[in-house]
Amino acid sequence: MEHKDNPKISDIFIIGGGINGCGIARDAAGRGYSVVLAEMDDLASATSSASTKLFHGGLRYLEYFEIRLVREALLEREVLLRAMPHISWPMRFVLPYHKDMRFASDTPASRVLGRVFPWMRGRRPDWIIRLGLWIYDHLGGRKILPATKTLSLAEGPEGAPLWDHFQKAYEYSDCWIEDSRLVILNARDAEARGAEILTRTEVIGATCKDGIWQIETRCRKTGKTSLHQAGMLVNAAGPWAGDILQNRLRLNTTEGVRLVRGSHIVTPKLFDHDKCYFFQGEDGRIIFAIPYETDFTLIGTTDVDHPDPSQRPECSDVEKAYLIAFANQYFKKAIGLKDIVWTYSGVRPLYDDGALTASAATRDYTLKVDRSAGAPVLNIFGGKITTYRRLAETAMDKIQSQISGDGMSWTAGVALPGGNFPVDGVADLIDGLKTRYAFLTDKWARRLVRAYGTDAAEVLGYAKAVEDLGQDFGATLFEAEVLWLMQHEFAQTSEDVLWRRSKLGLRLNVQQAQNLETWMQNAQRDHSALRAFIKAS
Ligand SMILES: Cc1cc2nc3c(=O)[nH]c(=O)nc-3n(C[C@H](O)[C@H](O)[C@H](O)COP(=O)(O)OP(=O)(O)OC[C@H]3O[C@@H](n4cnc5c(N)ncnc54)[C@H](O)[C@@H]3O)c2cc1C
Repeated sequence: MEHKDNPKISDIFIIGGGINGCGIARDAAGRGYSVVLAEMDDLASATSSASTKLFHGGLRYLEYFEIRLVREALLEREVLLRAMPHISWPMRFVLPYHKDMRFASDTPASRVLGRVFPWMRGRRPDWIIRLGLWIYDHLGGRKILPATKTLSLAEGPEGAPLWDHFQKAYEYSDCWIEDSRLVILNARDAEARGAEILTRTEVIGATCKDGIWQIETRCRKTGKTSLHQAGMLVNAAGPWAGDILQNRLRLNTTEGVRLVRGSHIVTPKLFDHDKCYFFQGEDGRIIFAIPYETDFTLIGTTDVDHPDPSQRPECSDVEKAYLIAFANQYFKKAIGLKDIVWTYSGVRPLYDDGALTASAATRDYTLKVDRSAGAPVLNIFGGKITTYRRLAETAMDKIQSQISGDGMSWTAGVALPGGNFPVDGVADLIDGLKTRYAFLTDKWARRLVRAYGTDAAEVLGYAKAVEDLGQDFGATLFEAEVLWLMQHEFAQTSEDVLWRRSKLGLRLNVQQAQNLETWMQNAQRDHSALRAFIKAS
């Protein structure tokens, strides 16, 4: 390969701009390392925008005795909430109880119970659920989130949309997180601390020469290849972690990921309160039904093996039917295919622990350093959105054992961009924004604060009236916001804006989305021309 570049040698080169890559980039840059991150598509374009969007301990993982993971995740919830109160918020989960609920047959808990109480035939008794919730409440410490309580479904709005035979429920706490915005804010903060974030940049190969990684990338927009050098590689390619090892680095290893697809369906709003449902199915699986983007309900997820990462995950007809049937066991007003307004799917890059079923594969993460090429590569397998910050700290311990440096953990308690306000401060921020920008409606101000927190005023700038915000793309999206996203949040296409920087894709029609795309492509051309002009003059 021929390159004119004479690349500097960075300390760390990260492959993958999902939550794990961006979380590590932020932590490493904050410790003073020189960092380059390459993402082949948009930030969060793969699994990290397709999750159920919960900061949670994972109640069901208790049945798999994943105590380490559950404890770490539970402890993390409030640490994260305090650092990003704009994009994360507490949520109450309503778990309706019925005596015929069953365990998945392959959980360690169901095997133990089957031996001790064989007459229960796989049923999840009431006391087991109460015990699980008690452990969940006490394992990870809570200061902000309220404890579990019992709920009568005969009264109150929680029981209203459910079949009458659900009389009792348990209500417990976890948190919501805007997953793709979390990734982007980590990337923004990493960049502010000196990291170089390259999007639409695919790593096509890397070899080691004299103890230094030589990494070749290709720009997916121009086709131009570039050479980078680094002392250490981090393979945070999620579903492609195995592809990186086998095909890009050509390492002789059997390590890999088990790819398990999870799909969600979105329907118009199915209930009139802000709590989420945790439904248990006859197959022992669980699904959530979550209030989503004010006017919608999010239902998911599934667990289906999906061996080929190059195959774009999509919600199959079978998965749609499964989720509809599952929800209809609980909701009185039946939903059908016609109610689905959107679906999305992602692939969990789980560490391949040889589990029999997709549901049983471990959700914990494993980090492994490989030096067989002559320079170190850290491979990331598995991990949850919830544990990304702890994963990054563990990754830094491994990185610091391979290359020089003794930086300390620093990310706990440090706000992400826009998140420097109290956990209960959203209403005040909305009021303040509406006072400064009198043209904002309630909904609009809330959307901006929930997306940008204390940066919302920066997005609107000196605007005194709606007309000052430039072109109107629909659903309160104006030129000023789009430009801000292009300048500060790495957005390049309408999809980046409509589905990962926001969820306005649910509200714009095809023509409006096309107008936005055309406008963004023209703006990029004009801006590159402007930049070239400034450089030349
Ligand atoms: C259905 C579902 C529901 C989930 N729900 C939750 C939840 O509620 N809470 C929770 O905590 N976790 C949840 N998770 C888990 C969580 O989403 C994932 O563990 C996490 O997003 C994985 O992040 P990642 O950075 O490892 O991978 P990804 O987000 O997939 O990032 C990897 C990136 O690497 C890039 N890449 C790959 N190859 C190359 C290359 N050659 N060059 C450059 N870039 C490359 C890809 O484009 C991709 O963007 C869920 C997962 C799924 C699938």
